[in-house]
Amino acid sequence: MKKLLCLTFVLTTIFVKTNAQSASFIEDSIAIKQISDITLPNTVAYENLRFLCKKIGHRLSGSIGAEKAVQATFNMLKQAGADTVYLQPCMVTHWVRGVGEQAFIFVNGKKQPLTFTSLGNSEGTNNKWVQAPIVEVKSMSQLHTLGNAVKGKIVFFNIEMNQQYVSTGRAYGEAGIGRRAGAAQAAKYGAIAAIVRSLSTSNDDNPHTGTMAYNDSFPKIPAIAISTNQSNEISKQLKQGANVSVQFKSNCKMLPKAKSYNVIGEIKGSTLPKEILTIGGHLDSWDLAEGAQDDGAGCVQSIDVIRAIKQAGLQPQRTIRAVMFMNEENGSGGAAAYLENAEKQQEQLIFAIETDGGGFTPRGFGLDMALDKKEKIRSWAKLFYPYGVYDFTGVGSGADIDDLKKLGTAVAGLSVDGQRYFDLHHSKLDTFEQVNRRELNLGTINMAALLWLISKYGL
Ligand SMILES: [Zn+2]
Repeated sequence: MKKLLCLTFVLTTIFVKTNAQSASFIEDSIAIKQISDITLPNTVAYENLRFLCKKIGHRLSGSIGAEKAVQATFNMLKQAGADTVYLQPCMVTHWVRGVGEQAFIFVNGKKQPLTFTSLGNSEGTNNKWVQAPIVEVKSMSQLHTLGNAVKGKIVFFNIEMNQQYVSTGRAYGEAGIGRRAGAAQAAKYGAIAAIVRSLSTSNDDNPHTGTMAYNDSFPKIPAIAISTNQSNEISKQLKQGANVSVQFKSNCKMLPKAKSYNVIGEIKGSTLPKEILTIGGHLDSWDLAEGAQDDGAGCVQSIDVIRAIKQAGLQPQRTIRAVMFMNEENGSGGAAAYLENAEKQQEQLIFAIETDGGGFTPRGFGLDMALDKKEKIRSWAKLFYPYGVYDFTGVGSGADIDDLKKLGTAVAGLSVDGQRYFDLHHSKLDTFEQVNRRELNLGTINMAALLWLISKYGL
């Protein structure tokens, strides 16, 4: 009899528990469907992006565009219905391209124009012509092998993105060594400039810019990028034994740091307002285009998460905070200010997610946190399937939130279909027309759903 009672108790417990679980599953499904129904047909985020791209244009840190974008997104957050909207001051890198970038290539003495872009944070030539023969390297170790043989030359880092990888982000990370550190390493051996193959997955004529950094122990030589087509052509000529030299001039330079802002909007949590969930993108962009996919898309999605939750009439228990980070591209001044402020205020940033892979079709979430937290998020996987998100195996978060791990924050990133991202990333092709409204909104829906669940169940 005792055994039977015990069994009845166990079965009842399982039944009640399963029922409770399925009841909450249904409840959560309904909430997410509400978010989706409101968001998928919506044009607000898309029109906000159009405004950022077409009315403001590029938003390089320290530029007038960046300043205007601060005001514009402040207004957008208000319109979205955020309970509080405010600016968080930060100091940002102020690098300017200047005008008059010009280059020629000489192949066996034959002169032809060469299209290039200075890399972000690079020194320019002060409008003086720089000319030297070029030496091609396919890897950093090849440069080290050549050593002082590159003295007085221009080193050409022809490091290709590995097209065998399914993850374009992985290929970008690996091949990016030339852009990030090429000039510093070439200067160590006496080179006078560095040319890098653009980090692009397509073969075309567009140079892609991006940030680079110097090493204070070596001279600050100018660094520029050329297109993938041009890189292939130069490589072919060199293989055929041609004498190839490049002549170029530029006027880019680094100015003293400038004051700017992160733009922040919040929905205050109803029962646990001190526990904060951050969602963010970065407001600054490179100056060759409109910064539509990188990362205007992430900003308008973050704003739209606020709008969607408010409009669905959902009241999160924990605070949801959308942040437009400033200066991600070439200094991370915004991220540093956010972290510093959180430390000072002893904020409980329990979770943060960044969307900085473009507003493409979402596939999943990168999760960088303790295993039990990952497991908790993964237990909700089925709720996301109707909205195209299925992959919870990634580990990447975002450059602006990664350091929040120091505070114990669980960080995540929206994973999207990245096959087209690096065709246009940091080039003149990154325009509003490249963003699809429905893909953009699907990203918003999935992030809003994730934030809603964490606001309800914690992490
Ligand atoms: Zn970005």
